[in-house]
Amino acid sequence: MQQPTHTQHYDLIIIGAGILGTFHAYHALNQGLSVALIEKNKAPRGASTQNFGQVVPSGMNLKWQTLGRTSLEIYKSLQGKVDISLRNNGSVYIASNDEELQLIEELAAINKSNGYTSELLTKDVCLERWPGLKHAYCKAGLFFPEEITLNARLAVHRILGYLQEQMGLHYFSNRMIIDVEINANACKVVDTLGNKIYSDQVIICNGSDFKALFPNIFWESDLEVTKLQMLQTNPQPTQRIPGNILTGNTIRRYESFTECPSYAGIKAKEDKNSYARKYGIHILFKQKPDGAVIIGDSHEYADAKDQDDLGYDLNNQINRYMMDEAMKIFELQTFKIDQAWYGMYSQCKTQDIFQYTIEEKIHIVTGIGGKGMTGSPAFAKHSIQQILQKEVRTVI
Ligand SMILES: Cc1cc2nc3c(=O)[nH]c(=O)nc-3n(C[C@H](O)[C@H](O)[C@H](O)COP(=O)(O)OP(=O)(O)OC[C@H]3O[C@@H](n4cnc5c(N)ncnc54)[C@H](O)[C@@H]3O)c2cc1C
Repeated sequence: MQQPTHTQHYDLIIIGAGILGTFHAYHALNQGLSVALIEKNKAPRGASTQNFGQVVPSGMNLKWQTLGRTSLEIYKSLQGKVDISLRNNGSVYIASNDEELQLIEELAAINKSNGYTSELLTKDVCLERWPGLKHAYCKAGLFFPEEITLNARLAVHRILGYLQEQMGLHYFSNRMIIDVEINANACKVVDTLGNKIYSDQVIICNGSDFKALFPNIFWESDLEVTKLQMLQTNPQPTQRIPGNILTGNTIRRYESFTECPSYAGIKAKEDKNSYARKYGIHILFKQKPDGAVIIGDSHEYADAKDQDDLGYDLNNQINRYMMDEAMKIFELQTFKIDQAWYGMYSQCKTQDIFQYTIEEKIHIVTGIGGKGMTGSPAFAKHSIQQILQKEVRTVI
């Protein structure tokens, strides 16, 4: 473990070792910069470790699909060097009725014109490929063979290990940064123990921590925090359901589908007061290598300054609802729940990511929302290029 000394001066200090901070470090190191990455916890434990680990450009709008496709390449190239827990099993969207079928057919046509491979699957093929999928639920599927899963409890830690061992990253954990100032053209970064490190530039990838640094900037912004509930079953003894499995309400929710011609008309017919709409529930499945199935998720929102109002409890009614819905979709060998947790991420209400620069030296990059595992590797590359060119306010 590195220990900061008072004389160290880096080209770049990055605060926050979630997936966004980690990939900023990766690209900066690739550019030959000396980089220190500082994490407040013993190991990162924010959204980047709490999520599904689904890398799904198929769910993003065109801009983020392009970034997501580049991210797939970056993850696959990293997996060639070190085991970051990547599995290339693809993603499938299962339509449960004629409206959702219409949307997956329209998205397949859009993908064709974008050159993004996807394959419409009949009901019979879906039932065969994903054993346990319910006959009564499945109408057809849209499959994306290039997409991958990661184990969120492992991936970011393994990437960090690689950056330290192979790329010269100086990584400091258990160091909460409480002050960043510009002094005589250099940035000074101070942690709670009074350690100081210096650099030419600082990038802050603080996720949803809006209290430690520059709270006013966040509280006056349109950043909000989202709380998501997640469940994990015991390992299924023999049942195997590969890849990312996304279902009807996901088709009705993900941004890629908003680009389908029928989307607005189909959404207009939905019950706006339904329980699923109220708590932003759609049902996703991802099986881990040990056979356990992760099921989620719900969405509750609070403005950055009201983040604490989201509470620290798991709402059991939401969990029960998600279980009931999951049981309508899949017959799993066991639905016994082994773990339940919530995760938090930040996002903007009006933009797709939050970027804010102070005196051309301190760059805040956060609020990537629900697309961070998919978009961060490629977005961070653009972000580093912008910062090196001192053009961080430019929207890519
Ligand atoms: C339940 C859930 C499911 C999700 N599923 C998916 C998915 O399947 N696919 C997908 O693409 N995305 C998914 N996401 C979204 C994705 O996880 C996030 O977009 C992404 O992890 C955000 O990364 P981040 O680095 O910005 O934030 P974080 O992971 O929160 O990292 C921020 C880091 O900064 C550190 N930090 C903050 N302040 C300081 C400070 N002052 N000093 C030092 N360190 C500091 C924190 O400790 C933390 O480690 C999901 C999110 C959740 C919560």
